[in-house]
Amino acid sequence: MSRLVVVSNRVAAPNPGKAAANGGGLAVAMQEALSTTGGLWFGWSGHASDSPQSEPHIAEHAGVTYAQLDLSATDYDEYYNGYANSTLWPLFHYRLDLAAFRQRTYAGYHRVNALFAHKLAQLLRPDDVIWVHDYHLIPIAEELRQMGYTNRIGFFLHTPFPVPEVLGALPNLKLLMRSFCAYDLIGFQTESDNAALRRYLTDWAGGHVLEDGRIEAFGRTVETQVFPISIDVAGMSTLAAQIAKTPTLRRFVRSLNERQLVLGVDRLDYSKGMPQRFEAFGKLLENYPDMNNRVTMMQIAPPSRENVPEYQAIRAELEQIAGHINGQHAEFDWQPLRYINKGYGRRTLAGFYRIARIGLVTPLRDGMNLVAKEFVAAQDPEDPGVLVLSQFAGAASELGGGALLVNPYDIEDSAENLRRGLSMPLDERKERWQTMWAVLEANTIEHWRKAYLKALHATAG
Ligand code: UDP
Repeated sequence: MSRLVVVSNRVAAPNPGKAAANGGGLAVAMQEALSTTGGLWFGWSGHASDSPQSEPHIAEHAGVTYAQLDLSATDYDEYYNGYANSTLWPLFHYRLDLAAFRQRTYAGYHRVNALFAHKLAQLLRPDDVIWVHDYHLIPIAEELRQMGYTNRIGFFLHTPFPVPEVLGALPNLKLLMRSFCAYDLIGFQTESDNAALRRYLTDWAGGHVLEDGRIEAFGRTVETQVFPISIDVAGMSTLAAQIAKTPTLRRFVRSLNERQLVLGVDRLDYSKGMPQRFEAFGKLLENYPDMNNRVTMMQIAPPSRENVPEYQAIRAELEQIAGHINGQHAEFDWQPLRYINKGYGRRTLAGFYRIARIGLVTPLRDGMNLVAKEFVAAQDPEDPGVLVLSQFAGAASELGGGALLVNPYDIEDSAENLRRGLSMPLDERKERWQTMWAVLEANTIEHWRKAYLKALHATAG
C-alpha cells in the first residue's frame, strides 16, 4: 500500500494520544489515517522569525514522520496574514468588501508554496499519495508537477468556495484556478461549493465535462466530489455525558440558577455572524419581556488572527454590542450575555454543549461548522437541546432536517427561532435531535477520511 503524505498549513503535535484528548477532529483523523499506512505529515511549524531554520524539523512517532518548516517573518506576514487570511479567506467567505488584493502578498503566497513544495519534494517517495488541505496551499500540486512529480495528489477545501461571479473579482484568478487543476481530486464540503468550481471551470475557463464526470481544463483532467467533513461522533457523545457530572460543570449549572442556556462557540472571526447573533439575542429580550431573567446567553469567542486588522475591528464591535445588551437588560442578579474572549478545551466544551438548551450557530458563511455537529453529538438523548443553525453553514445541508434554520442577517427571524427553540416541547426536541443524530452516525470523521482516500486512490492518477 502506498504511503500517505498529508500536507496542511499547521501540523498537529506528534503525539496521537494527546491529540485525541485535546485536538480537533481533523488532527485525530489525519493521525489515524497516517498511522494505518505509516506516513508523513508536512506543514508550517507555527514559528516565524527573522532567521528561520532552512530545513524542516523532523520528528517520528508511532510510524508517522512529522516535518515542520519555520517561516521568515516576511513570509508569515505575506503568505499567512496576507494572501491566505486577508485575500482568500474573505473572498471564499463572500466578503469582497474585506478582501485585500496586493501584489506583494500574492508574490509571498506563491513563494511560500514553492518553498513548501521544494522542501516536501526532498522527502517524497515515488508511490506516495499526497493529500493537501485548505486554501493556504492551493498551488503546491502545480509546483510539484513542474518538478516532474506524477504522484496522486488530492486537495480538500475546508472553507466555502464562492460562485464565479464573486470569485471573478480575484486578480490573477486564472493562475490560481490552473493550479487547482494540477490535483487529481478536489474535495468540497457541499454540493454548492463543488458546483461553483465546476461552473467556473466550464463556463469561465473554457473547460468541459468528460463522460466520467471529470473536468478537463487548463490542459489537465481533474475530478471533483463532495465529502462533508465530520467529527468523532461517539467520542463527543461519551465525553459530554461524562463531563456534565464533574464539579466544574456542576458549578457552571449552579451559576445559571435554573435559567435556560443559549450557547455560541466560535473563533473570533467576522464570518461567524456574532454581531447579528448578539443583536438577535437582544431582540429576543426586547420582544419577549417574559424571557428576561429566564435565559442566559454565553458566547465563547477565542481571539484568532489578531495581526489582521479586520479581526481587531470585529472584536471592538462585539465588545460594544455586548456592553449595550447587558447595560440595557441586566438585573442585579442576572447578566444576560456572558461574552468570553478565551478558548476552552474539548472536554469543557462538551459539557457546555450538553447543558445548553440552544446551540446558536449562525455564521454568515461557513465551510462546514464543526461546532454545530459537536453540539448535536453532545446532547442528552432523553432531554436534547435545539440547534438554531444558519442556512449559510455547510452543516445546514446535512442537519437542516432537524435544526431550526435561520437567515443570520434577519435579526427578527433569528429572535423568533430562539424563542421557538426555548419553548419547544420535549417530544419535538427529541424528534428533531434524532433526525440529526442519524445523519451524524452515518457520516463520522472516520467515514469522511476513508471516503476521501478511497476516491483519491481510485482516480486515474
Ligand atoms: N474550539 C475549541 N475551543 C474553543 C472554541 C472552539 O476547541 O474555545 C473548537 C471547536 O470545538 C471546533 C473548532 O474549534 O472543533 C472550530 O471548528 P469550526 O468548524 O466550527 O470553525 P473554524 O474555527 O474551523 O472556522
